[in-house]
Amino acid sequence: MEIDLKSRIRDIPDFPKPGIVFKDITTLLQDFDAFKLSVDMLTKQHQKNKIDKVAGIEARGFIFGAAIAYAMNTGFIVIRKPGKLPYQTIKQTYELEYGSDEIEIHEDAIKSGERILLVDDLLATGGTMAAAAELINKIGGEIVGISFLIELTFLHGREKLKGHNIHSLVKY
Ligand code: AMP
Repeated sequence: MEIDLKSRIRDIPDFPKPGIVFKDITTLLQDFDAFKLSVDMLTKQHQKNKIDKVAGIEARGFIFGAAIAYAMNTGFIVIRKPGKLPYQTIKQTYELEYGSDEIEIHEDAIKSGERILLVDDLLATGGTMAAAAELINKIGGEIVGISFLIELTFLHGREKLKGHNIHSLVKY
């Protein structure tokens, strides 16, 4: 790879709270070559799979997911934080280190049996993506693959996503 994607991702220590090293992708997004390479490589990983729609998780999953959907000539589905979607929704709660969180999808976002590629910027503990996968299953989608720009391997998020075809471009 000519462009070193890791060099375009900025570490922000102790954000949003002490002890977390936040992977800031705004520096990668600002760099046309790095952003384009990321989207091209994420798209290439699934070029042999038949994908009907790409689903992205709010908010950074929208940036990569929508670009991948455009590159793959598919529609795009949004998975959002609670209270943002205007039509009837299906909700999924998931556990955080302290407390819990929720994500939602429109109940008619997928036609039964559609083949879905799920996208987010980063895999940490896997809780968010596991909840997103649950939502896709609940509304009748078939998950063909799950893609991340970044994977924090030391958090073993893949264990929460067993049985899925998972890809990430940059591993820490
Ligand atoms: P998790 O559910 O633990 O896999 O967390 C994944 C979600 O939280 C993704 O939507 C990420 O954008 C965000 N996230 C978690 N940890 C980090 C981190 N260290 N840097 C940036 N984003 C993170």
